[in-house]
Parts: sequence; C-alpha cells; structure tokens
Amino acid sequence: MKAGLEVHQQLSVGKLFCACPAELTEQVTDAFTRSLRASGGESRAVDVAAAFQASRGLVYRYEAGPSSCLVEMDEEPPHPLNEAALDTALTLALLLHARPVDEIQVMRKIVVDGSNTTGFQRTALVAVDGELEVRGRRYSISTICLEEDAARKVRESPGEVSYRLDRLGIPLVEIATGPEITSGSEAREVAEEIGALLRATRRVRRGIGTIREDVNVSIEGGHRIEIKGVQELRMIQEYVEGEVARQNFLLELREELRRQNAHVPSDPPHDATELFREVSSGPFSGAGRGNQVVLAIALPGFGGLLRSPTGGDLRLGRELADHARSAGLRGLVHSDELPAYGVTDDLVAKLRERLALGDTDAFVVVTDRSPERARLGLDRVAQRARGAIDGVPGETRDPLPDGRTRYSRPLPGRDRMYPETDIPPITITAERLERLRAHLPERPEELEARLARSNGLPLEVVRQLVYGDLVERFTSLAKEGHPAGLVARLLTQDLPAVPRKSPDAPQFEPSPETLGALLSATEAGRIAKEGVPRVLELLAAGASSVEAAIEQAGLAGFSKDDLVALVRRVVEANAEIVRTRGEAAFSPLMGDVMREVRGRRDGREVSDTLRQEIDRVRTRGGS
Ligand SMILES: [Zn+2]
Repeated sequence: MKAGLEVHQQLSVGKLFCACPAELTEQVTDAFTRSLRASGGESRAVDVAAAFQASRGLVYRYEAGPSSCLVEMDEEPPHPLNEAALDTALTLALLLHARPVDEIQVMRKIVVDGSNTTGFQRTALVAVDGELEVRGRRYSISTICLEEDAARKVRESPGEVSYRLDRLGIPLVEIATGPEITSGSEAREVAEEIGALLRATRRVRRGIGTIREDVNVSIEGGHRIEIKGVQELRMIQEYVEGEVARQNFLLELREELRRQNAHVPSDPPHDATELFREVSSGPFSGAGRGNQVVLAIALPGFGGLLRSPTGGDLRLGRELADHARSAGLRGLVHSDELPAYGVTDDLVAKLRERLALGDTDAFVVVTDRSPERARLGLDRVAQRARGAIDGVPGETRDPLPDGRTRYSRPLPGRDRMYPETDIPPITITAERLERLRAHLPERPEELEARLARSNGLPLEVVRQLVYGDLVERFTSLAKEGHPAGLVARLLTQDLPAVPRKSPDAPQFEPSPETLGALLSATEAGRIAKEGVPRVLELLAAGASSVEAAIEQAGLAGFSKDDLVALVRRVVEANAEIVRTRGEAAFSPLMGDVMREVRGRRDGREVSDTLRQEIDRVRTRGGS
C-alpha cells in the first residue's frame, strides 16, 4: 500500500480576505439563501465533482453572526490577502525546507456543495519540494498552500443545507506529503510530526476541528481513494487500515465477478411499480398508495456477490447503497437480501421473470416519490457496479466516527481551477524570506531538548508532550509549582486512559483548576498517584470536585499508620510463609496488600513498608 496526507490547519491571524475575527459563534443575527450551479473552469470543461454536487439541486441557507461582513456574503470583492497568514505559510515552508514560489497567485477552486457562498474556494500555492524526517525516514512535501476555510455545516434537511459563515475565510495552511507512507501507523506519525511543526509557529488555532487531514490511500492494483476531513489524529491509522482491507476485498470480488461473467447492461430501468402494489408494509408500501415509483435494474452475474462472503462488514451491496444515497435516495434493496422488507418469495420470482434473470444474476430495486431521482440513483448504482468489474473505482470518502468510511463523491479533476481576478499577485521578495529566516521559531526537536533539560524529564516523555499537543498545559501546571514528573504522568498516561463514553467521544478534558487541585491532593499525600486514574474516572462521570471524587472513591482518610497496620496484619497472617520462603514471599504479599490499599497510598511507600515488616518477622523468626 501507499498513502499520502494533506494536513489542513487553521491559523489564528484573522480571516484571509477580510478583517473579521476568526472565531466561531453560536449567535445568529441574519440569514439568507443561495443556489449554486457548476460552471466551467479555466479549461472551460465542467469539473466532474462540481457537476455531481450541483446535480442535487439543493438550496443553501447561510447564517450570519454579529461580525459577518459583505466579503463573506460575496456581496463585496475580497480584500487583499492577509500578510500575517502568508508569513506563517512561508515560515512553514522554510521549516520544511521547501522552495517558496516567486509569486503568489490566488486561484478559485470550484466547490458547489454550498460550503462557500461564492461557489469556489480561494487557494494559493506558496511553496513546493519540501521534506520532512520522521523516525529516521524521509518524506517529501510536495506542496504547501494557503487557502480559505469553508463555511461550517450546521443542519441538513430534505432539499436544504444550512451553513454558518463564522468559519468561512479562516486561513488554512495545507501541507501535502508525497505518497511515501506505507502503513497506517506511519501515517499517524507523519501527521503528528506535521502537527508539531505547525504549532511551533504559534500562529495556529487550537481544539477539535482546527486541524483536519485528508488521507490518500491506494494498494497495488487498486486506485487512489481520498478520505476527506479526518479530525481525530488517533483515528488515521484505523481509516488507512480499513481502506486497505476494503480495496483488497474489492480486488477479490473482481475475480469472482469475472468468473460469473458479470456485466451491467445499459438498458433503462424497469418500472416495477405495478408489481409492488401488493406490498403493504416496509419501504415499498408507497407503491400501493400510488405516491411512489419502484424501479429495478438487472445485474447479470452479480448473484450472491452483493452480500458479504464472510459475514463481515465489507459488501458490495453497501457500496451500491451509498451511491444510491448520493443521489438523494434513502437506499436500495438487492436480490441477495430478499425476501425481506415486505417483499415475498413470490414477488421476487415474478420480478426475476420480468427481468429474465438466471441463477447467478442479481437485481437492485429502489423506490422514491420522484421518478427522476430514482432514475439518477439507479444510474449511479449501475455505474458503481461497472466499477466493481474493473476493481477499485477512485473516489472521495467521508470518515465515519466508528472508523469506517462512506462514499461521498467522485475524485475532482483538473477542470476546477480558475484564476481569482479580484486579488493581485504578490511577489515573494528575497528580503521577505530573509526576514522570516532570521526569526524562525523553535523546532519541535529543539523544544523537546529544552523541556527535557529544564524539567529533568526523559526525552521519550517530553516527546509525548510535544506530539500530543500538551506542552502548554504542562508548562502552566509546572509553573504553578507542581512537580514536572507528576504533571507529565497525569497528562500523558492518566488522562488518555480515562474511559470514553463511546469510541468517537473526545478525550475527557478537565479544567486547569481541576488538574491543579488533583495534583495538589497527590502532592499532599491525600491520595497516591495510583489513585489518580480512579479519581479522573469519577470526575469524567460527573463528580462535582476533586475532593468529592476522592471521597466517592473511598480514597480519603487512609494514613501512614493505617498502612503500617494493614501491612502488619497481612504479614502476621502469613508469618509461616515469610519465615520459610523469605524474599520470595514479597511478590504475592505485595499483591494482597495493594488490593486492599486501592490506590490510597503510593506504591513505593507500600513496598518499603512491606519489606520492613517482612524483615522484622524474619529476624524475629531467626532469634
Ligand atoms: Zn469578514
């Protein structure tokens, strides 16, 4: 397999083409609607992805906030490009040893899914040919671009999509690597390294959604697939591995299809509305009431291959259904899953006869109020079925929270670019690059070395702080006087280990005050560091304060004297074993004691006390 990344990071230097603040808001003061159509690019041809998006004929509703301006509404030309954003992109280019272009030329990239009021996204190439080293391996950085972020989708209803303008125009740096990544874990590591470099500029926005990755994956004999907009870095590996499995599945399926002589006729769909009138329940019951059409197509040679051969999650039926949904249908029903949905064996037999199907042939049926939409949906299903005979069709896919992906649209082509005639080109002068080169920020590896030195921490721990975006939280807690080792352990081990409510739920993030209180309680000996995970778990579950969580966990009020008494009791109860087995008695007894201590005292303190007591009993036994 090979993979490449496109990392998109929001900058915190205002908007790219107007003076509005780059902040998200929940305040809506105004709204308006637009319709968009696909137009030709510089080469006059209409881009296939743009045409696809426009074909849905949706109305877009835009919600404006207190600071929205006419540029964002596309009622006024864009202002000159934000120079601070350009400086940040150029700084990154220098950090990545890339070659800045001589002149910045802003382009319009046609996007008609409503995410831009203009129908295009402004983008500019800033530098090319960079490189990055991660764990001793070199990766090429093919391009570094500066672009405007899209509007934020807030709602979707039949026929209408609502966006908020607050995110539109926030500057994004886009860093694209070459296709040299060879595994899911490598993809995650490269993304982490690029993330650390971006943060080094101190000009980036923080928090969920401020950095997004597009992952391109292909395997030998497969095709490039773009998984667009991954927000959780830790999920990258899962998406890459899932995509490799999907492409392998499709290549095996291709062989089966060829063995069964599969083909997809280009006949118009068969109108089966009449036949389905007898269905009284399920998705097809509308046919009987006369307000839905039912259309079917034959898929000769696809019989038995639409469901999963292994009972797993990968199946062609699901791929076909995703394509039907992309046309606005609710889904489809195929012959491998029938009888079901109120469709009887008898009805299946009749339909098979009408379509003149043999044993190894399959069919797909869809139903909708609009015959046009049903026809468009079946068109896409047929196209996808043809792609299965060729193997892996190239496409753009959406990442799902559960680690799977779903078809979203075709891969865009080259016809979607057009020069932005409202923005004059900007020459990149040698003086400008000299000035930026003289003030390059501290690189991640320099930051690591400095943090390790000044806090006496191992480099491996410091790396976790830097790559996990934890440096600021670490520094502010350490500055309050909390011991560096304790803070690092809390941030890199205890917090990520707090169980999540669901796999896609964000990591539990207590306030800095709560973390401070927890550290203070640990330092004061109120709880042992072994008790910290339990306290965090209770806080995540809603405990009102650190004190309340300590109380709830039963961790409070276990003194040094209590510990000595407990250890003494355990050792006395096992005095015989201690005398006969000596040192070898330590491990099993330590286990017994720790079970009762339950994180209320420090592990080191417990083991020291236990050794003392064992020694005492053994000396006594020998005298
Ligand atoms: Zn504005």
